[in-house]
Amino acid sequence: MKACVLRGHGDLDQLAIVEAPVPVLKRDRDVLIRSHAAALNHLDLWTLRGLPGLSVKFPHIPGADGAGVVEAVGSSVASVTPGDRVMINPGVSCYRCEYCDAGEHSLCVQYRLLGEHLPGTLCEFIVVPEQNVAAIPTPPDPHPELTWAEAAAFSLVTLTAWRMLVTRAQVRPGEVVLIWGIGGGVSSTALRIAKLLGAYVIATSSSDDKLDVARSLGADVVLNHAQMDVPKEVRSLTGKRGADVVVENVGEATWEQSLRALGRHGRLVTCGATTGAKVVTDVRRVFWYHQTIMGSTMGNAAEYREIVRLLGQGRLRPLVDASFRFDDARRAFERLAEGKQMGKIVVEMS
Ligand code: ZN
Repeated sequence: MKACVLRGHGDLDQLAIVEAPVPVLKRDRDVLIRSHAAALNHLDLWTLRGLPGLSVKFPHIPGADGAGVVEAVGSSVASVTPGDRVMINPGVSCYRCEYCDAGEHSLCVQYRLLGEHLPGTLCEFIVVPEQNVAAIPTPPDPHPELTWAEAAAFSLVTLTAWRMLVTRAQVRPGEVVLIWGIGGGVSSTALRIAKLLGAYVIATSSSDDKLDVARSLGADVVLNHAQMDVPKEVRSLTGKRGADVVVENVGEATWEQSLRALGRHGRLVTCGATTGAKVVTDVRRVFWYHQTIMGSTMGNAAEYREIVRLLGQGRLRPLVDASFRFDDARRAFERLAEGKQMGKIVVEMS
């Protein structure tokens, strides 16, 4: 099969398209999928450039998200059969430890992500456990059927944003939610989920074009963070109350402003640190205003079932920025590295 691989850590010159063996079913609950599309995440750039503590065996296939057709299944697989159109939940856990037993799969001691710790989706065939596969639902009229690109773009960011807003921050109707950098996959998905929950959403970007899209996706207020003091604007928009929830994945560049924008009983929920992880917290604000800082990564099987159900109802829909042919996978990475995208970047095999 053809596979897009990283030959080593470094820049985009480390990307290559090579011939690789088709993976085989090893366990009785494994599913072999013929891939139609894969979606990129910022994680793929981290894996390319090298993450402290992450050891990667080269050549390494990146890509966490994917969708395709079931080609073969192990002897105990009951939920899908060859020919089914499926998408992949990229978080693989052991399904045996105390965290898995408690339904907390992303806290599993062996939790690993496709494309990061395991071979990823940027290839023509992939094997994943049955627990990580979901049939692509068909939304009701008037919603169009999901394209392969949309199905591939769905899982990682939707699961991440869902856990952040629903399970962790428990956003309630009417609450004020501030979301930084609305062009990113998690942020644009968080916007849609926050609106689904009935929140009042303030979205930021340094690009007025992206802010226009954010408005069309339902953002109540958009702020250009390159031109404005965001905490000050949030305070003035909320009658000095501040935001109830801040969605963080930026880290050093925004952390201090996030805390200043947060009101009494505010919850800051973070899933990333794209500009750096060593943030500074004035803890006096945190205790004085009874605030909570929450961490979140991916989600569990129940949360995944719930977002797939909402996808099937047409209430969630992934936002695709651009789709590239498999032979142009490098261009997809270039677009990701430029940071100009609004939504997900997809590579299509079919
Ligand atoms: Zn486990």
